[in-house]
Amino acid sequence: MGCYCRKSPIIKTSWTPKNPGRRFMACGAENEDPCEYFFWIDPPKCERAVQVIPGLLRRINGNAEEVRRLMVQIEGKQEQLVTYERKLRSYQWKEKILWFVLLCSWVFFVMNFKSKRTANNILLLEIGEL
Ligand SMILES: [Zn+2]
Repeated sequence: MGCYCRKSPIIKTSWTPKNPGRRFMACGAENEDPCEYFFWIDPPKCERAVQVIPGLLRRINGNAEEVRRLMVQIEGKQEQLVTYERKLRSYQWKEKILWFVLLCSWVFFVMNFKSKRTANNILLLEIGEL
């Protein structure tokens, strides 16, 4: 069964303040030029539901907006995290180089100290022989 313009009718849900969450059939030519085909599927909502549902919808939309805002914040933090991780790797590399330089300087110091002692001993021995 088609609508007046012979398209397949579609089921939609009304979110107007008067009929929140109430389903209806409408013309299938949504974006084109729809005909007047329309009828309600669900009975009218009770007065209490009509009062409560718009408030719940506002709350849901507010939460969705909050979620979007938080997602943007999270993306920003993730970009910061990538930057900090890059800096950390750079500092870790510099730290390794500094440890290596420190180790080399200690090895050089110890070897130099030993060779000076040996040279001094040889000198003392030579003086003693005189
Ligand atoms: Zn139609």
